[in-house]
Amino acid sequence: MTIFKRIIDKQIPAKFLFEDDLCIAINDVAPQAPIHILIIPKKEIRSMNEARVEDQKLLGHLLLVARDLARTLKIDESGYRLVFNTNGDAGQTVFQLHLHLLGGRPL
Ligand code: 5GP
Repeated sequence: MTIFKRIIDKQIPAKFLFEDDLCIAINDVAPQAPIHILIIPKKEIRSMNEARVEDQKLLGHLLLVARDLARTLKIDESGYRLVFNTNGDAGQTVFQLHLHLLGGRPL
């Protein structure tokens, strides 16, 4: 079980910036930018490599949740970056799919 699954299951306390039936959003513990949020689906998917056609709606949902958070945090005009790291060369360290939302400074 990954650390993110434990956070989703509330076995480990974390401040949820957003939660619905499909995903959560939390601040990254080691932020790379003033705003660094992780949007994590509740469904356990190891990485983009394991995402399936039936996950299309879920993946789109993560993007729109990130977009809405960017708007709420007022970085929609200044700009932001959305990233899915996949496996070693991308630096993926937690093998539960998650979307990084980065912003608040020039990247
Ligand atoms: P990856 O490199 O796998 O795409 O990103 C994993 C991210 O999760 C990293 O940016 C790392 O700082 C963050 N992270 C790892 N463990 C925890 C944790 O326990 N809590 C939170 N909030 N973030 C974590």
